[in-house]
Amino acid sequence: MNVEQLFNDYKVQSLYGRYIINDHIEPVLEMLKPHFEVSVAGQSVLGKPIYNILAGNGKTKVFIWSQMHGNESTTTKAVFDFLNFIISDESFATTLMGNFTFNILPILNPDGAERYTRENANNIDLNRDAFNLTQPESRILRQAFDNFKPDYCYNMHDQRSIFGVMDKGNARPATVSFLSPSYNESRDVNEIREKAMSLVVAMNETLQRYIPGQVGRFDDSFNINCIGDTFSSLGVPTVLFEAGHYPQDYEREQTRKFIFFALLSGFNAIHENVIVVNKKQEYFNIPENRIIFFDMMCKNVKINYENKEIITNFASQYKEVLFENSVNFQAVISEIGKLDGFHGHAEYDASGAEFVSEDGDKIPATGSKANFSLGNRKFENGREITGQPLD
Ligand SMILES: [Zn+2]
Repeated sequence: MNVEQLFNDYKVQSLYGRYIINDHIEPVLEMLKPHFEVSVAGQSVLGKPIYNILAGNGKTKVFIWSQMHGNESTTTKAVFDFLNFIISDESFATTLMGNFTFNILPILNPDGAERYTRENANNIDLNRDAFNLTQPESRILRQAFDNFKPDYCYNMHDQRSIFGVMDKGNARPATVSFLSPSYNESRDVNEIREKAMSLVVAMNETLQRYIPGQVGRFDDSFNINCIGDTFSSLGVPTVLFEAGHYPQDYEREQTRKFIFFALLSGFNAIHENVIVVNKKQEYFNIPENRIIFFDMMCKNVKINYENKEIITNFASQYKEVLFENSVNFQAVISEIGKLDGFHGHAEYDASGAEFVSEDGDKIPATGSKANFSLGNRKFENGREITGQPLD
């Protein structure tokens, strides 16, 4: 199976970038309607429809939801690429349609999607509401889970560009991370978690061919109000997906492709029954996700601190700002100091050149825009405009 070719052939071209809301997926749902059962599962706090898709007519039931955090849209794109693939006459598509039933809630949090926020319209993080079920979106998800009685759950998210993995001493962005969530405080591994772990291992094997050293394993601390932990405790193997950073891919169009690869290779593993083999050890061998990245780092910068010249480092991070229906990335200075153990997706060596901000300040101030010069090199919005980054 050439997953790269399949992605290129079946990617839904109309979905692009970070801002994905109901308005964008509705025409795609219309297109898919003749092939699937598309309905409305219920309404969000602000009365927007939460869509429900039933696809395929096979025995193995997979329950998938995306964008429970409204500003985490990458997996929604990948799920639609996947749906567009399974209506094709490719042999693997036919196999999937005949052997699986997929119940998908894309954009579980349409209000958060529209406002580009993690939380819903009541400012509640739906992934901390799985047990209490105080929000309509949480209750809709739980109702769909109870009705469908899945064999597997896919809990689809995005993670920030701060996450990385250490690969043989080198820091790499965590382009995709996974978790088999705990079902109890002591993080025991039962058969349910083992199944999810084996599934993660199968997906990781495929991803390593495309993004070696860029797959991470998420922390498994238990919290019953996290949805994955709840569904694990109810006896269903659940996998948390975190779509993360790929070099220079702030629109997450590359990462979208890797999520598509993970979906296909995971379903292939379930279909071929390879996940009955216990892969717990391989799962724990996947390196841990760590907070080790900034979007940009400047090293060996001369600053004037209390009338003394010192050489130091500083970093900036993009703030994601919704403006006229698209997401702008605004670089803001976030840290100054040694920053040992941290890396930049872009790194610059100032070689002792002096820092001057756009307002003439001689010290980088946290919270200010990353527009500055280092000697005669100029930087705007956290990137050098007089040359190329070293890294
Ligand atoms: Zn999330």
